[in-house]
Amino acid sequence: RAKDLGKHNFQFYTREMNASVEEKLVLLEGLRKALEATLDADAPAHAGRFHLVYQPKVDLRTGRMFGVEALIRWRHPEHGLVPPPRFIGLAEESGLIVAIGEWVVRSACRQAQAWRAAGLEGLTVSVNVSARQFEEKRLVERVANALRESGLPPSALELEVTESLLMRDLNQAVERMRELKAMGVSLSIDDFGTGYSSLSALKSFPISTLKIDKSFVRDLADSTDDQAIALAVISLGHRLNLRVIAEGVETEQQRDFLLAHECDEMQGYLFSAPVDAERIGEMLAQQARRDRMRLAG
Ligand code: C2E
Ligand code: MG
Ligand code: MG
Ligand code: MG
Repeated sequence: RAKDLGKHNFQFYTREMNASVEEKLVLLEGLRKALEATLDADAPAHAGRFHLVYQPKVDLRTGRMFGVEALIRWRHPEHGLVPPPRFIGLAEESGLIVAIGEWVVRSACRQAQAWRAAGLEGLTVSVNVSARQFEEKRLVERVANALRESGLPPSALELEVTESLLMRDLNQAVERMRELKAMGVSLSIDDFGTGYSSLSALKSFPISTLKIDKSFVRDLADSTDDQAIALAVISLGHRLNLRVIAEGVETEQQRDFLLAHECDEMQGYLFSAPVDAERIGEMLAQQARRDRMRLAG
């Protein structure tokens, strides 16, 4: 049992919801230290830090990478990589997510601008925003600062939010989204179909993209139910003038189905898992070389 392993062998892999109070406190302390170390360049490496990985977003028709999604990673000094679902909830509950999220937005903007400065233009970067972060008064200001500081054009930044987040306070959410949109930042709805937004609410969201949740993509080749859901999301999105992206695309069959049914974009292990910034840079450079060869005939 986790408890018998003692404090220093905290069971990171129990589901967070079942974690005991003591486990939560240990996890929380770890999160605080990691945040501190992440924000302090001089902190010792053994403190454990956050870093970002990036997953390509690909145009289904052309196969080109047009953007990336930033995903946080936490390397714990004793426990190794802790997956986000194990700590994002607690970061939310404790409010730490606000500072962590600010670091994510700033780092992602800085990285995206570095790619652009290296001549890899047109790339967009998407950042996940959780409920507590989205509801925070200073969100818009923080995003504006990250853009200004990095020099990234607002049109190159997208924020991914979930339906459940938006439904917590519908009016406030719509207002917040309008402010972000007015700044030039795009918005997309992540994990679409797993939350509870009403269709009338959807109509009032100033978003540009719907993201089909990976739970509907997983069995797309065999499940006629999942096919029906994917088709419904694609046609709903298109009728509302939105782009539709599928996440968790792992197989050719899934890709072929989505392509045949006019889904616009995809993300998933089939093209690439989330990778470090350097690898994205290589992939972009390779793509640019292929473009030049094609142009040269
Ligand atoms: P999400 O935003 O829906 O991200 C998609 C998740 O699916 C990522 O998990 C990604 O690594 C994983 N994935 C990508 N391609 C495939 C595939 O082909 N098959 C499968 N089975 N999975 C795939 P990850 O990185 O563990 O993140 C999980 C969730 O944690 C994210 O879901 C997001 O809600 C949250 N998260 C991650 N980074 C951040 C962050 O910086 N801030 C906030 N607030 N939340 C974050
Ligand atoms: Mg996402
Ligand atoms: Mg998602
Ligand atoms: Mg998800």
